[in-house]
Amino acid sequence: MERLVVKIGSSVLTLKNGEPDHARFSALAEDISAVVEGGRSVVIVSSGAIAFGRAVAGERLAPVGIPNKQALSSIGQPLLINAYMMEFRRHRKVVGQVLLTHDDFIDRQRYLNARRSMEIMLEKGFVPIVNENDAIAIDEIKVGDNDTLSAMVAAMINAQRLIILSNIDAIYDRDPNRYTDARPISEIEHIEHYRAFDRGKSRYGVGGIRTKIDAARQLARIGISTTIANGRTDGVVAKLVSGQASGTTVLAGHRKVNGAKKWVSLLLKSSGSIAIDDGALSAVLKDKSLLAAGVVKVTGAFGAGDVVSVTDTRGHEVGRGIANYSAADIGMIRGRKSSQINGLLGYFKGDEIIHRDNLILTMDGGA
Ligand code: GLU
Repeated sequence: MERLVVKIGSSVLTLKNGEPDHARFSALAEDISAVVEGGRSVVIVSSGAIAFGRAVAGERLAPVGIPNKQALSSIGQPLLINAYMMEFRRHRKVVGQVLLTHDDFIDRQRYLNARRSMEIMLEKGFVPIVNENDAIAIDEIKVGDNDTLSAMVAAMINAQRLIILSNIDAIYDRDPNRYTDARPISEIEHIEHYRAFDRGKSRYGVGGIRTKIDAARQLARIGISTTIANGRTDGVVAKLVSGQASGTTVLAGHRKVNGAKKWVSLLLKSSGSIAIDDGALSAVLKDKSLLAAGVVKVTGAFGAGDVVSVTDTRGHEVGRGIANYSAADIGMIRGRKSSQINGLLGYFKGDEIIHRDNLILTMDGGA
């Protein structure tokens, strides 16, 4: 069964005066319900909590600083979920709320728990609605924007496609606000070669074109396509699914990636980095594990189990993976043979600094 993640931006759901646009909720619920009826599974990632919190709190709470934004999201999130619930109910569809932070993707157990609860909802034809858990997420544990979060969710639930709905019709070849001859691009085949112009941010959301392109780039690497389209077009999701609507689709690469690698690749914040020599680089490119002998430098203060960036000797990222040893310990065993690890550290957790199953290549044209 085809699985879709539909990301809905604050700008789609908010009227000019900052109030929730109930007509839009109604149109989207009708649209997505029809897609679910048609046999597809849909997970929604929706922004709007902070925007709606602002509409309620008005002058009483300015949207400045993290604590205020956290409070605003706490006020707005129930309004957001309620608006969806009421509209989906008209189509006899049940929705569920899932609030996630970056930590929920790093911690393997929490990741699996979140995934399992969404799997159960999808099996029953329910519609999970995800947002970042803004109320508890300070910068260090935040994904930060819902374009990125939706890409992480798409990887988490093994979706075939991510649809990002915002207030733009498509990606253009040049900035349409500055060039009258800018043309929409319907398909981007090699996203790694695409250079986005910076259009700036929308009034209510956090992301912009750049976060959307980055999300699409990450997903293309693991075989998931992304479509960016206008969420104010009636029936847009059903039309995209049946090939009738436009927008810009970033095509996926063909490479198949296993589950552990998928979740690692999407963890955009790494805790440190490991530079490797040319020999180790060519081994890693051949899908081998990273061993201590090939490590030349360790940066950061990560622990065993943390996500790290793997770089070449010039510091260019070539991959990401889960380290089996801490930064301090890798510092002691770098350049050494596996047989020396026990003697140097007083314990041995295996030959691999990063096991091949937990390592994904991220260099352009790589994965
Ligand atoms: N989580 C935020 C909210 O619901 C939105 C983040 C974003 O706009 O990307 O208000």
